[in-house]
Amino acid sequence: MNVLVTGGAGYIGGHMVLALRDAGYKPVVFDNLSTGFRWSVPEDVPLIVGDIGDYELMLQTLRAHSIDAIVHFAAKLVVPESVRDPLGYYLNNTVKSRSLLAAAVAAGIKTFVFSSTAAVYGNASDKPLAEDAPLAPLSPYGSSKLLTEVMLRDVAAAHDMRFVVLRYFNVAGSDPAMRHGQSTVNATHLIKVAVQTALGMRTHMEVYGTDYPTPDGTCIRDYIHVSDLISAHMQALEYLGKGGESLVVNCGYGHGYSVSEVIDTVRKVSGRPLEARIGPRRDGDPITIVADSSRIRSKLKWEPRHDDLATIVEHTLRWETMLRERNLKL
Ligand code: UDP
Repeated sequence: MNVLVTGGAGYIGGHMVLALRDAGYKPVVFDNLSTGFRWSVPEDVPLIVGDIGDYELMLQTLRAHSIDAIVHFAAKLVVPESVRDPLGYYLNNTVKSRSLLAAAVAAGIKTFVFSSTAAVYGNASDKPLAEDAPLAPLSPYGSSKLLTEVMLRDVAAAHDMRFVVLRYFNVAGSDPAMRHGQSTVNATHLIKVAVQTALGMRTHMEVYGTDYPTPDGTCIRDYIHVSDLISAHMQALEYLGKGGESLVVNCGYGHGYSVSEVIDTVRKVSGRPLEARIGPRRDGDPITIVADSSRIRSKLKWEPRHDDLATIVEHTLRWETMLRERNLKL
């Protein structure tokens, strides 16, 4: 089975490419290399450098590689950046996804897996969020993804396509065999920032708000190991391959950690000091985001293997250390 992976040179897409290869699928990467890396695509995997909004190139690629399924990762994904640049996010994540869907329809693609986000929910109560919770994004990032979900649902209904939408909670960690990890140059995500600070790559970090109505005053998130997230995508492909109905599922473990707990775990696992300064709240941040993961567990038979914050931090640390050593050698 030939699978087009948009954003396959990036962090999560790159892990997907490895998993597809390991399982005997034939991945083809489509990536504009804006944040992804050419070196991260294995040599035996075709890489098409292009923009998902380039309809002609996309259609040509889908046909030339006889693509059976699309797994669509390519997106901008930084919440505060989306607050500053909403039009950039709607263009990249929504308008260009429309172009991708149009090419998919023209090429007769019947199977589509889409990376969405828990940011579609907005401010929840302190209870885990089920998929039918109100959809009220707090950021243009969340809205740009929600619009694509809606578009995908309507396109699939009209064109004999089936899909799985995976709403990611907070993805972190790296391939346990250290074949891949998050290499983003200016990382903004909490675990990565805290690990880089512990390793001395940043002098200090900031905690964005300690006055939230949570037990320690900092925001709570459901951190999921990237390998477990990828196994959910593999299960999704298998499910659709067996004729499963279109589905929207949360991808999280069902329990959360506060920003302070994450920082303490990084201190403990790294055994290093880490200066975390208290700063103001960041725009667009919901208070608590934790998944109700019962649907993905039952429908996709998903069984996570790395549900442990210390393991996620340890894998992030190992990858970051390896990257640093590689750079030092260059
Ligand atoms: N956060 C923080 N300092 C940082 C980065 C993140 O305090 O340097 C907080 C952020 O405000 C949020 C949580 O950590 O409450 C997770 O943020 P992240 O950017 O990792 O993911 P998001 O939930 O926004 O997708």
